[in-house]
Amino acid sequence: MDTVMTLTYHGQDRESGREALEEGVAEVYELEDLLSVTAPDSEISALNEAGQAYLSPDTAQLLSAALELCALTGGALDITAYPAVEAWGFTTGEYRVPNQAELEELGDHIDYTRVSLDQESASLPDGMKLDLGAVAKGYTADRLAKLAQERDITSALLDLGQSTILALGAKPDGSPWRIGIQDPQGEGYLGVLELEGQAMGTSGGYQRYFERDGVRYWHIIDPATAAPARSGLLSVTVVSPSGLACDGLSTALFVMGLERGTQFWRDYPELEFEALFILEDGSLALTSGLKDSFTLAQGYEDREV
Ligand code: ADP
Ligand code: MG
Ligand code: MG
Repeated sequence: MDTVMTLTYHGQDRESGREALEEGVAEVYELEDLLSVTAPDSEISALNEAGQAYLSPDTAQLLSAALELCALTGGALDITAYPAVEAWGFTTGEYRVPNQAELEELGDHIDYTRVSLDQESASLPDGMKLDLGAVAKGYTADRLAKLAQERDITSALLDLGQSTILALGAKPDGSPWRIGIQDPQGEGYLGVLELEGQAMGTSGGYQRYFERDGVRYWHIIDPATAAPARSGLLSVTVVSPSGLACDGLSTALFVMGLERGTQFWRDYPELEFEALFILEDGSLALTSGLKDSFTLAQGYEDREV
C-alpha cells in the first residue's frame, strides 16, 4: 500500500500480543495482493486489464462498499478516477499537466455507475479503470481490528500510514489514544485528537503532490474536472467507528470542500462521522461531535460548523 504502517497490540501477555501482530501483518499483505492497482497480479489489475474479472469475497465486499460510498457522496468519491490519477503522473512519478481536451476526454471515462458487480465478478466498460486506493487502508484497518477482537485483544493502535489510524479500545491504562493532527503548512501538530474505539482518516493536498510554474497539484482528483480537487481545503480528517468510512469520506470531503462537506455531514447522521477541516488560510473548522475530543495546539484557532 506504498506506505509505512505501525501496528501496536496489547495482549494478555507478550506472546498473545505478538501472535496478533503477526496475523495482522499477514492480513495486510494478503489484502494488498488482492487490491493493489499497481501489482500486476492483483484482482483489481486483472479487472482493469481485461474489463472483467472474478473477484474473491473480500474484494467483492470492499468494491460493493466503495460503490455505495461513491453513490452516497454524489460521486465526490469515484473509484473510476484512476485514469486521471495516471494521466497526471501520480502512479509513476512522471508528473505532467494534461491539457483541457485531454481532461475532458478523461472526465468522460470517470463514472462509477458504469461498474457492474455481481456475486463473484465485476466488469468495466472499455477505457475505464478502477482503483480502491481511497478506501483500501481504512478497510484494512477494520479487518485488522476484527481479527484482533477475535483474539480478545481489547487495546490496539493500528496506524496504517498516511493518517489512517484505528484505535481499538483505549490505551492499556484506560485513557484514550492521543493522535497528533499534522499541520499541513508546517512541521508540527496543530492539535491532538483523542480516540477510543474509533478510527480516523486524513486526506490532504500536502501528502502527495508536485509543483509546476508555482502551482501545486495533488493526488486527490475532482471527478467532475479530472483535475486535482480545489475546494479551498488543505486537508480534512474524518472520525468514525468505521475505518472504511473514515478513509472514503475523507477523500470525498476533500473534494466537496467545507460548505458541501458540512451539508453532507448534516444530511447523513446515520454515517456517524465527524470532520475536521483545515482551510487554505490555515484556519480550522470542526463538527460538533469533535468538541470534546480535539484539543488545539497553542497558536491555532478553530470554529465549530
Ligand atoms: P491517501 O492515499 O493519502 O490515503 P486518500 O485516501 O484520499 O489518500 O486516497 C487518494 C487515492 O485515491 C489517490 O492516490 C488515488 O489513487 C485515488 N483517488 C484520487 N481521487 C479520488 C476520488 N475522487 N475518488 C476516489 N479515489 C480517488
Ligand atoms: Mg487513504
Ligand atoms: Mg481515503
